[in-house]
Amino acid sequence: MSRRSGTLATKDLMVRIITSRLVEAMVRPFLPPLLPVFMLHQFRNPGNGRPGHDPQMVSDCLARLKKQGYAFVDLDEALDRFSQSSVNRHKVVSFTLDDGFLHQVETAHEVFSAHQCPFTCFLITDFMDGKNWPWDAQVSYLLEQSNKESLVLDTRSGTRDLSLNTSANKQRAGHEIRELMKSSSARHKAESRAFLSNLADKLGVELPAAPPSPYLALGWERARELEGKGVRFGAHGLTHHILSQLGAEEAREEIVLSREKVCQELNNPSDVFCYPVGREEDFSEREMELVADSGFKAAVSAVPGYVTPAAVNSLRFVLPRFTFPAYARDFFQYCSWVEHVKTRFRETLIYSPHGVGLVK
Ligand SMILES: [Zn+2]
Repeated sequence: MSRRSGTLATKDLMVRIITSRLVEAMVRPFLPPLLPVFMLHQFRNPGNGRPGHDPQMVSDCLARLKKQGYAFVDLDEALDRFSQSSVNRHKVVSFTLDDGFLHQVETAHEVFSAHQCPFTCFLITDFMDGKNWPWDAQVSYLLEQSNKESLVLDTRSGTRDLSLNTSANKQRAGHEIRELMKSSSARHKAESRAFLSNLADKLGVELPAAPPSPYLALGWERARELEGKGVRFGAHGLTHHILSQLGAEEAREEIVLSREKVCQELNNPSDVFCYPVGREEDFSEREMELVADSGFKAAVSAVPGYVTPAAVNSLRFVLPRFTFPAYARDFFQYCSWVEHVKTRFRETLIYSPHGVGLVK
């Protein structure tokens, strides 16, 4: 056994011990109720080599969580319980899925329903309507289809020469382009369209108006069928644009019209809004007010952390979520009290007047 795999095995064992029922039972009474809400995106797709969550790994995690006595609770229901303080120190966990790609939702349904685990899927409603497809998926598609060996990207700090000669390099380039698009403040959606059209020219690929096969949307009819089988759907904006970058009217439309659409198409939509992209800088007070005024009871971000009763009551339009991690040990750490204690310890170190401020 190598030194690295030995260290990982020790870490796995440590996480198993500290998240065991016995240790949990000793520690939980001293902590507030904690709700980890997990966010999933695309699943690995062997059909076309696209990366993503491993369905088997997610399934194994759900099975082990159930054995450890966790309750799987629908997000809307969990928030109701937390806001009415009718939650004991139960071990509860909620799952969410963002965007609404056909392959993604079908795989999630297969995996989660096998464990009787509910999940909420946040939908990009114009994508569901067939009006457009998400800008970030368009970047991936253009790179996957391109025969170019490299790409010169103009950034604020100069030009970057990105290699495209392997699929790993294409994925790295995709990450860099998406980050560039996230950081350049497009004040209007038309600016993103112009950027993508220019990228398509540079990569020598024609950008289809409708999404091609691996990027198909779930569609409302199938959403209604899955709703009948217990899947909850909610609003994730019209187009997946970062709301804080848009002008006031476009930001308002993204929130209000996507809520109207899910209410129109579905019988029991979630009352929770999901900010597109969802980092701290991707929404502001303006969006939080718009979400509240549109009749949502809460909103989730992609900022990591636990939902607590205090957060549900005072920060309900900026609730955190954990990205579903690549490794099971990280997942169990987020589900347990360990991550909470670690975060509080870090905060104490950073914010205490006598703190050393070493850990970020
Ligand atoms: Zn999204």
